[in-house]
Amino acid sequence: MAAVKGAILAADNEASFQDQAEIWKYMLNFGDSMALKCAVELKLPDILHSHDGPMTLSQIAAAIPNAPSPQPSHLFRVLRLLVRRKIFTAEEGDDGETFYGPTNLSKWLLHEPTPTADNDASIMTLAPMLIMENNPWFLDPWHKLSEFIREGGMAPFEKEHGYMFDFAGKNPLFNKLLNNAMACTARITIRTILSRCGDALFSGVGSVVDVGGGTGNFVSEIVKSYPHIKGINFDRSHVISTAPTYPGVTHVGGDMFQEVPSADAVVTKWVLHDWGDELCVKLLKNCRKAIPEKGGKLIIVDIVVEADGKGLFDDTGVVFDVLMLAHNTGGKERTEKEWKSLLDQAGFPRYTITKIPALQSIIEAYPN
Ligand code: SAH
Repeated sequence: MAAVKGAILAADNEASFQDQAEIWKYMLNFGDSMALKCAVELKLPDILHSHDGPMTLSQIAAAIPNAPSPQPSHLFRVLRLLVRRKIFTAEEGDDGETFYGPTNLSKWLLHEPTPTADNDASIMTLAPMLIMENNPWFLDPWHKLSEFIREGGMAPFEKEHGYMFDFAGKNPLFNKLLNNAMACTARITIRTILSRCGDALFSGVGSVVDVGGGTGNFVSEIVKSYPHIKGINFDRSHVISTAPTYPGVTHVGGDMFQEVPSADAVVTKWVLHDWGDELCVKLLKNCRKAIPEKGGKLIIVDIVVEADGKGLFDDTGVVFDVLMLAHNTGGKERTEKEWKSLLDQAGFPRYTITKIPALQSIIEAYPN
């Protein structure tokens, strides 16, 4: 391969220093992920949010659970990065000691309380998702991306562990990690959907089935807001067997590629992106069979890729697509054109897309 001309000469100018700095930043982006993971594992957000006022380094270190010999000097270095990232605050007191505090960002990293009779553990947090994405099960496949591009075959995750949702059926720890991560993000998304366009989506609907609904909190939130709706949560039996009971929601175990339970509306969130086009069309056809020909609708909640989009979540959407490449054979995030093509093939000639302040958008599709 020919040497890149001018590479050395161009190095000594301001723009080139900026380019270099940018590459350093991207190169070490994983340091941010790992520092966040470390903070969540040490429960630093919980410690700072539950304390009355800012805390010193030694107070935080002493409050870390299960720490036989906490190391304030190590902790300091992780905190310094996270203060720089605006996850926490740091202010110097009169005697020169630093006091740390929480922020609105660290609220998103709180642990969920253990559910009790009068608390449904329903805080909005991304902590379980962060823990899942940065778990070696999920991170290791990223190291095999270039191999996958060179050789094809199965997605790196599947090559290593088998198909993700089968692996979940065999490995209870992985199943829990996955289901908790899905549940925390589902809760955030459904609350945004309900506040932004709940009435438009659900007020005239008598029954809703959530296909690949995980442990069911997405449809349970719909039923909570619209108690006239009969909710069905449909997923594979190893997921359903761990699902909590929700008023107004029936859990059904099964295989969505065989059949989908009938309802006025089918909702499916973050499911189609797991599959290649052929299986998506098969699933969408089953969804079409499950809804009435007249008045039925399909509600897809998934990313609509805007590669150059300036929206709040557009950048993450493109990263997510590469994540799908590493994790699910055939899985991908789709552009509007790609969604339209799938819907056309499955017999949904009409659709609308509604953008909401979330990673995913809402695609409503109609059988005629
Ligand atoms: N909708 C949930 C979960 C998304 S993860 C949420 O957004 O939080 C994808 C889900 O699809 C998993 O819960 C997985 O168990 C389910 N799934 C995978 N294959 C399935 C199948 N053949 N039939 C039914 N559900 C399936």
